[in-house]
Amino acid sequence: MRVLTGVGSTPLSGVGTARWYRPEAGLTLADRPDSSTVDGDAELARFEAARATAREAIRRAGARAADRVGEDEAAVFEAHEEFLDDPMLVEDIETAVHDGTLAEHAVHDRFAEAIAQFEVMDGRMAERADDLRDVRDRLLRALLDTGTGAVELGTLPAGTVLLAERLTPSDTAELDPDAVVGIATVAGGRTSHAAIIARSLSIPAVVGVGSDLEALPDGADVLVDGEAGTVVVDPDEERRAAASRNASPAVSERVSTVDGRAIEVAANVGSEAELDAATDRGADGIGLFRTEFLFLDREAPPSEEEQYEAVKAALSTFPSDRVVVRTLDVGGDKDVPYLDLPQESNPFLGSRGIRLSLGEHADLFETQLRALLRAGAHEHGDNLAVMFPMISRIEEVTAASAAVDSVAADLEAAGTDYAIPELGAMIETPAAAFLADSLAERLDFLSVGTNDLTQYVMAADRENDAVAAHHDPLHPAVLRAIDRTTSAVQDADAWVGMCGEMAGDPALTPLLVGLGLDELSMSAVTVPAVKQAIRSTDSAAARELAAAVVTCETRDEVTGVLDLD
Ligand code: PEP
Ligand code: MG
Repeated sequence: MRVLTGVGSTPLSGVGTARWYRPEAGLTLADRPDSSTVDGDAELARFEAARATAREAIRRAGARAADRVGEDEAAVFEAHEEFLDDPMLVEDIETAVHDGTLAEHAVHDRFAEAIAQFEVMDGRMAERADDLRDVRDRLLRALLDTGTGAVELGTLPAGTVLLAERLTPSDTAELDPDAVVGIATVAGGRTSHAAIIARSLSIPAVVGVGSDLEALPDGADVLVDGEAGTVVVDPDEERRAAASRNASPAVSERVSTVDGRAIEVAANVGSEAELDAATDRGADGIGLFRTEFLFLDREAPPSEEEQYEAVKAALSTFPSDRVVVRTLDVGGDKDVPYLDLPQESNPFLGSRGIRLSLGEHADLFETQLRALLRAGAHEHGDNLAVMFPMISRIEEVTAASAAVDSVAADLEAAGTDYAIPELGAMIETPAAAFLADSLAERLDFLSVGTNDLTQYVMAADRENDAVAAHHDPLHPAVLRAIDRTTSAVQDADAWVGMCGEMAGDPALTPLLVGLGLDELSMSAVTVPAVKQAIRSTDSAAARELAAAVVTCETRDEVTGVLDLD
C-alpha cells in the first residue's frame, strides 16, 4: 500500500481502476512523404471521414455534458463544431491535401496557424486556442487511428479512477459520475473551476498530487480519498471498506446549534442543472449563484430573457428559501473571449468583477440587473438577494446601487413588473474587510468569499501550485479579516454569510459559528455534513473557540486550538 498526498477537493472517497487521460498521447506525426507519392483524392476522403468521426464525438460529448451539467456548459461543444466547419480552415486543408500533403500534416499545419493567430491577436484568447487544440486533436486521433486507444471521457467504464495532468472545466463536465469513482490530478487547486464542477457532480477528487502520480500505471488499484486528500495505491481491506462514495445522508430540515441558534446552510451553484443536487442534499436555498458560468463557453452573452429564466428557475426550485445571485464576476482566472477583456500582467489585481460591471461592461451589468429586478417580481421574488463581487471601495457600492435604481426607473417607466431585491457585497478583498462596518451600514448583507480573500490577504495566487501552502484560510491573518467582518455586522442591521470553499469544511463549522456567521454556503455535496456539525455545536463554546483562535499568531497555533492535525 502506498499513499500519495494532494489536496482533497470533493470530500468523498472512491475505489477503482486507474486510467490515464493524456489528450496529447499518440499524436506524433511521421515524416512527410514526397508530395508526388501522395494520392490527393484518397487523402481528401480520409480528411472528410476524420471530420465526420470528430463531429460525431463532439456531438456525443455535447449531449452528455448538457445532460450531466447543463446546457450552458455544453455550449463549448457547439463552438467546437463551428471550428470543424470553419470555411477558411476547411478550404485551406482541402487545398493542401489536394496538392499532395498527407491529411494529418495539413490539419496540423493549418491548425497551428489558426492557434498562433488567436494567441497573437490577444493573449487572453488562450481559451479559444485551447478549443482549437481540442478540435485538432480529435481530427488527428481519427486520422492516426488512435481512436481505440484514446480515452473518451464521457464513456469511461464503471469503476474508473481518472488520472490526468490537469483537467479543464469542459473535460470535467463530460464525466459520468456513475462511472467515474474518483479523479486525481498532478496539478491544479481545489478552488479551480474544474474542481468546483467535480464537486457539483459529487465525484471524489484529489488535485495537485504532484509528479509522484505520474508513476501510477493504467490498471492500478487506487483509492481516492477526497476528505483526507490522499491517493492510496493498493489499499488494504480496512481502507477499502471505509471508502464509501456515499456522502452523509441528506438533512432536509433547517438546523440550529445545540442551544437553538439557527444557521442557514445553503448551496453554491453555477447552472440550473446544479439546482437539483442542491435540493437533493437538503440545502436551505442558494447562497451563491455564480452567474458568470452562464457566460462561459459560448460565443455571445446570454440575453436578458435567458438570465431571467435561470434566476426564475432557482427561485422556483427553492420557493421558501433565499436565493443569492452574484452579478457577473469575470476577469482574474475567468476569461470570456468574446468580451475581449483587457490583457493584463496581473489579471487577479486588474479588471475583475464589479470593476468591469461599472466600467467597460456597464451594458452587460444593466442587462443583468434588468433580469434580476424583473425576477424580483416573480411569485417567489421576495426571496431574491443580489450581491456584488470584488468590492474594494464604498464608491463601488454607491455606483452599483445607483445602477439598480436607474434600471428600476426604466422598468417603472416602461410599465414592466419589477422589485428591488436585498443587496449585498462579497468580502473578498482586504479593503472590503477593513470597510465591513461602512458596507454593512449601506447594504442588507455581506458574504465572505474566502477563496479570494485568502489569496489577497496572503498575496498567494489561488491557482498557483507553487504557493498553495500560502493560500491558507486557516492563517490567523485571514481569520482576523473574517472576524473583523462578522464583528462589524453585529452592530448593523444586516446579516453575514460565507460562500468560499472554507464554509463547506465541517471540521471548521464550530469556528465559523463562533465567529458569528449567520449563513454558510457551499458545494451541495458538503451540506449534510455541515448541517450535522451545526447540530452538535454549542454557541457559547463556539464563541470561546473563535475568541481563542483570533489571538493565535501562526497556523500551527490555530490548528492546535481547533484540534486539527
Ligand atoms: C470566493 O472568492 O471565495 C468566491 C466564493 O468566489 P469565486 O470562488 O467564484 O471567486
Ligand atoms: Mg471570488
